[in-house]
Amino acid sequence: MAPMQAPPSGRVAFIGAGHVGATAAYAMMLRALFREIVLVDSNAALAAAEAADLTDANALARPARIWAGSYEDAATADIAVVTAGAASHGSETRLSLASRSAVIVEDCVKHLADAGFAGVLVIASNPVDLMTMIAIRYAGLPRHRVIGTGTLLDTSRLKQSLSAALDLSAGAIDGYVLGEHGDSEVAAFSTVRIGGQPLGDFIDTGSPLDLPALGEHVRDAGYRIVTGKGFTSFGVATAIVRICEAVVRDERSVLPVTAWIEHGYGMRDICLSLPCIVGAGGTERVLFPALDADEEAALRASAAKLTEAFATLDSDKGHQGSGIR
Ligand code: NAD
Repeated sequence: MAPMQAPPSGRVAFIGAGHVGATAAYAMMLRALFREIVLVDSNAALAAAEAADLTDANALARPARIWAGSYEDAATADIAVVTAGAASHGSETRLSLASRSAVIVEDCVKHLADAGFAGVLVIASNPVDLMTMIAIRYAGLPRHRVIGTGTLLDTSRLKQSLSAALDLSAGAIDGYVLGEHGDSEVAAFSTVRIGGQPLGDFIDTGSPLDLPALGEHVRDAGYRIVTGKGFTSFGVATAIVRICEAVVRDERSVLPVTAWIEHGYGMRDICLSLPCIVGAGGTERVLFPALDADEEAALRASAAKLTEAFATLDSDKGHQGSGIR
């Protein structure tokens, strides 16, 4: 067995120091995965204040250098995490943010590329699947080195919901939410395994679980949180840290994240979430689990919705074709 790798002493850059960026930087600092954390934001005063606050907190954690910096500082990072983007309010869907977020993500990724960034790029800005496509277009990196946070968060929510319903630890539950991180996502209950047994083995026929309702509850979790506190932060921040950890430790863990899908399940040339082997090279392999027919159809519908939304985004910007093949 290969020895467990020590955490590297590298640098992580956050582009965007708003709710998501600052929370993820805090979680990353506590996790002590990097010696250096740089925050870049068009609001320089905000980035400076968050860096100062994090530096105060670092006095009680493992030492790290945390500062508000530039794209030149970000260029030499092992991982850059883009969290700059338009945020949703109330019942606004993630897809409705597309045109506003696209301008921001394009700007950030072009700046990173111009500065010579050559690491792994993690995208959290919503709608994350489309923003991952935008990032692939402008990053000048191999596609597998651009990872969207995708349905890692939704999958965690699914496990938490099943954990509560079945009175089991969430860690004991394997299974995936696939497709768009958003309204067309697919809670693939056929992939759920508990100790190698399918979900059906755990459902009491006397009081069956309402799986469609559970899927909807998971899908709408973000809306409920935004209604209550105005934004979401801890869940996505933890997903960001988990992806970065898999990359810096070269774990080759299987995580449901947004990746470029060349073809599969009848889909072509689209970014959405499938289980991926995540290691130092990014999404090193995309996996295609067996799904039931309804789930496959729902996944194709999710891909079709994203393809259409990306084409609209492009035509609004005067682009011809996807331009990222
Ligand atoms: P926020 O408004 O608090 O932060 C966004 C930050 O981006 C701001 O500090 C702003 O100054 C900065 N910014 C804007 N344009 C910029 C540019 N061109 N260059 C550099 N910085 C720029 O928003 P938030 O709540 O932190 O959300 C950030 C993004 O993350 C949104 O797109 C939101 O929808 C998304 N999000 C994703 C998930 C997920 O699961 N993937 C979850 C929650 C939020």
